[in-house]
Amino acid sequence: MAAAVLAKVCETPGCTSEAKLQCPTCVKLGIQGSYFCSQTCFKGSWNEHKQIHKKAKETQDDKKNGYNPWPGFHYTGELRPYPVTPKRTVPDYIPRPDYADHAEGVPVSERQLRGSTNIKQLDDEEQEGMRVVCKLAREILDCAANALAAGVTTDEIDRLVHEATIDRECYPSPLNYYQFPKSCCTSINEVICHGIPDMRPLQNGDIINIDITAYHQGFHGDLNETFFVGEVDEASKRLVKTTYECLKLAIDEVKPGVRYREMGNIIQKHAQAHGYSVVRSYCGHGIHQLFHTAPSVPHYGKNKAIGVMKPGHTFTIEPMISEGTWRDEMWPDNWTAVTQDGRRSAQFEHTLLVTDTGCEVLTRRLDGSAQPHFMDAL
Ligand SMILES: [Zn+2]
Ligand SMILES: [Zn+2]
Repeated sequence: MAAAVLAKVCETPGCTSEAKLQCPTCVKLGIQGSYFCSQTCFKGSWNEHKQIHKKAKETQDDKKNGYNPWPGFHYTGELRPYPVTPKRTVPDYIPRPDYADHAEGVPVSERQLRGSTNIKQLDDEEQEGMRVVCKLAREILDCAANALAAGVTTDEIDRLVHEATIDRECYPSPLNYYQFPKSCCTSINEVICHGIPDMRPLQNGDIINIDITAYHQGFHGDLNETFFVGEVDEASKRLVKTTYECLKLAIDEVKPGVRYREMGNIIQKHAQAHGYSVVRSYCGHGIHQLFHTAPSVPHYGKNKAIGVMKPGHTFTIEPMISEGTWRDEMWPDNWTAVTQDGRRSAQFEHTLLVTDTGCEVLTRRLDGSAQPHFMDAL
């Protein structure tokens, strides 16, 4: 005796017609059911129906990863968190900033100056201290960049950064800063900034920003670059190149007498001309004995930043440029900033010293620095 075949009814709410068409994506994803009576009903239900695919894909990804610390959290893009290894330690003989040993990672010295718009002018000796640490930070970034490849985890990058930092008698500034758990930030694809290194292997086609800050003999030096993993698509190459140009164009205008607010106008104009948007929640910053201090340097146009450049000022410019929306949101780890639409974002950062006539790029490329991937890719 043959098994009885039950007539299927169309999924579309209100439709009771017999259904013979099955959604091909559901079949592929192994989802039971999903029958429709006609293409018209299928198309009409598409906006609601596709949510089923999304849910199923998310569940599959979580299973593959075997790890989902925030069940039910809605991710804006395809990237997922992976396990984070235990915090690495820094030997006692390396001098450390005040937050390194603070239970909540609070930088007490920075907090005391919070709200102050007074910009410190460094004397010759302090400027030399910045030169030294910024060069070391550049070397550390170069070490990390040379290790990038598909299959390498960001945790492995962090380990290399941690060791390269200690080898140079530096403290990795991000470590324990407001309890940040790692020694550098690794921000992949839709991550705007402050991604936490974890056990995710890099994938061919990823773009990854590595942000390094080192602390040496009382000074912080800060830089970042966005790199390609293997073969990335043309759209990502354009985004990364334009982001680099935004930073370069802003740096070209740095000299005494220029308002800090002008940087945002230059950056937004170039980003917009290429159809991109400028992230607004994160800014460049003053940096010297303190990691983040005055001035605040927004990267978007028509900002209200306070201050005029003077010789001896040291600060960063670090535009974050997005393919789609400039709006950001944060993962429940309270660090990882992602684009709200899940599209990609890129960033470049330098630490600068204002001189009498212009500026010195303290974190500039060294003779041994590898050519940035995006340059030979274009
Ligand atoms: Zn940085
Ligand atoms: Zn910075």
